[in-house]
Amino acid sequence: DMLPVELTLVLAATRSMGIGRAGTLPWTGLKKEMAYFARVTKRLPSDAHPQALNAVIMGRKTWDSIPPKFRPLKGRLNIVISRSHPDAAPAEGIDYAAEPVKVSSLEKAMEYVSSSASDKVARVFIIGGAQIYGAALQLKEAKRILLTKVISDFECDAFFPLKLFESQGDAIWVKKPKEEFDAWTGEEVPDGIQEENGTEYEFQMWEKI
Ligand code: NDP
Repeated sequence: DMLPVELTLVLAATRSMGIGRAGTLPWTGLKKEMAYFARVTKRLPSDAHPQALNAVIMGRKTWDSIPPKFRPLKGRLNIVISRSHPDAAPAEGIDYAAEPVKVSSLEKAMEYVSSSASDKVARVFIIGGAQIYGAALQLKEAKRILLTKVISDFECDAFFPLKLFESQGDAIWVKKPKEEFDAWTGEEVPDGIQEENGTEYEFQMWEKI
């Protein structure tokens, strides 16, 4: 049986929506921002099965950008998309702590989380990079964006393919108030401009109407 999957995109982007440079992040040293990413992508919603896991779906280049000792990302089902992965559905009984699930498309990733592993998967996050965000934004299932807006400027060569501005006229995506942001993440998200190592940023949550 296929269950509906709701996708939440998670990213940090500059004001020009820059997300990457030379295969890695444009900035370094955002330790609290990375800790926020880890907490929010791990935390189960209150109605989840206690043995459930959230899933993080990423492109092969983003997987490659994670230092080997930090992957798979702990406490989450990691799914990696590559054209060189087999088209057949991945076998069940994979040890998610030891290895990622390998799929050949975003659609196969969604099939995986909504079928065989459905009772084990709670929230589904798209964690990059630019190509996979682009594919996810085409889907009706893409409901929410957790955006860390980096205010300081950095040179980038990878960009999120959608501009999110608070004053935008074409309001398909709407920035949600703090109460809804806190309720969805299950934590008190720091409000206003944050600063780490001279880099300024702000936590935001956007939803599609
Ligand atoms: P991606 O991480 O999106 O991976 C791209 C790869 O995914 C492709 O080379 C291909 O793998 C596979 N792929 C893409 N589309 C498809 C498809 N339709 N079907 C099957 N496989 C597909 O790479 P990007 O270069 O776009 O982004 C990486 C950059 O983004 C890095 O600089 C990284 O640091 C940054 N990043 C930034 C984030 C942030 O929040 N700031 C978050 C995540 C990443 P293959 O070549 O193996 O076939």
